[in-house]
Amino acid sequence: MDCRWNGNRQKKRESGCETRMGAPHRGTGKKESHTGFYKRRPAVYYGRRTDDTGITETIYREDMEQEIIKDIDVQSVMTKSSLPVGGYSVNPYVGCPHACRYCYASFMKRFTGHAEPWGTFLDVKHWKPIGNPHKFDGQRIVIGSVTDGYNPYEEEFRRTRKLLEELKGTTAEIMICTKSDLVLRDLDLLKNFPKVTVSWSVNTLDEQFRLDMDRAVSIERRLYAMKQVYDAGIRTVCFISPIFPGITDVKAIINQVKDFTDLIWLENLNLRGQFKGDIMNYIHEKHPELAPLYDEIYNKKRMDYWKTLEQEISTFAREEGYPYRINDLPYGRSLHGKPVIVNYFYHEKIRLRK
Ligand code: SF4
Repeated sequence: MDCRWNGNRQKKRESGCETRMGAPHRGTGKKESHTGFYKRRPAVYYGRRTDDTGITETIYREDMEQEIIKDIDVQSVMTKSSLPVGGYSVNPYVGCPHACRYCYASFMKRFTGHAEPWGTFLDVKHWKPIGNPHKFDGQRIVIGSVTDGYNPYEEEFRRTRKLLEELKGTTAEIMICTKSDLVLRDLDLLKNFPKVTVSWSVNTLDEQFRLDMDRAVSIERRLYAMKQVYDAGIRTVCFISPIFPGITDVKAIINQVKDFTDLIWLENLNLRGQFKGDIMNYIHEKHPELAPLYDEIYNKKRMDYWKTLEQEISTFAREEGYPYRINDLPYGRSLHGKPVIVNYFYHEKIRLRK
């Protein structure tokens, strides 16, 4: 998932954590897919934690066992959203094994009693059956605002699929945010809803950088899934987020996906909280030539890079014939090969008007 939709107002309600059903148990951690949809790469990375002095420590799987998984009972999995996208926010899990280093959702730890590093625990939600699914007719339902509903354990626990089955027959508008191709498993259900959008977060075409940043499936597999869903007649989004200054090549990604996506969403990297130190250390170590730029942006709060990038993308869109919007949520399918580019850059004050 990615977390453009999350916000502090949501945090307590989205935790949805009430009573535990069973004792924690260890995940297999190396589970292989019998459907072929999801095969996890061998993971050695376990997590990171930053101490009070700001020193970030990386913990490797060899030092720990495997993900800690437990079942939890919740009253409801549907959370009324107070965010601009409206509707409901649904997170069938607490935590996310994709363990993105820049995950904005890691704040959930504070509200769910987890002290473990983000990405190393997963609470599997069990909710009472939805009594009146037609209550959600016409409502937008965002699946995966603070987790990925198609994380690898979904293949086993099928909670996202369960939700779709419960909503079957309604006219709910389904919006899925993922970094997985497991969503292909549920195409049969998704095709029954009148409005469905599936978005994949893709902020690089470089698999090494992707490996450095997350434990989700490869970019190649995300793009393959995007094409399959697009070809199945379902609206797709390539969410270029977060844009890493000097690393994310926005135009190259757009050129790669333009024939099988309806929308391109853009969001810049916003460094805050615990992961700022980790990302800055990573840049110093792996991309020292970019260290001055990151210092300008994230310590000195200079906006020049983003202003220039916005201008470049706006010009690129005009020259290539892509519709270009700012802070908009257009609906409908786009012309083939001409996805709508939507700029959700965080910094309001640098917003350039067309
Ligand atoms: S760790 Fe999960 S919830 Fe967080 S950004 Fe990555 S995919 Fe999204």
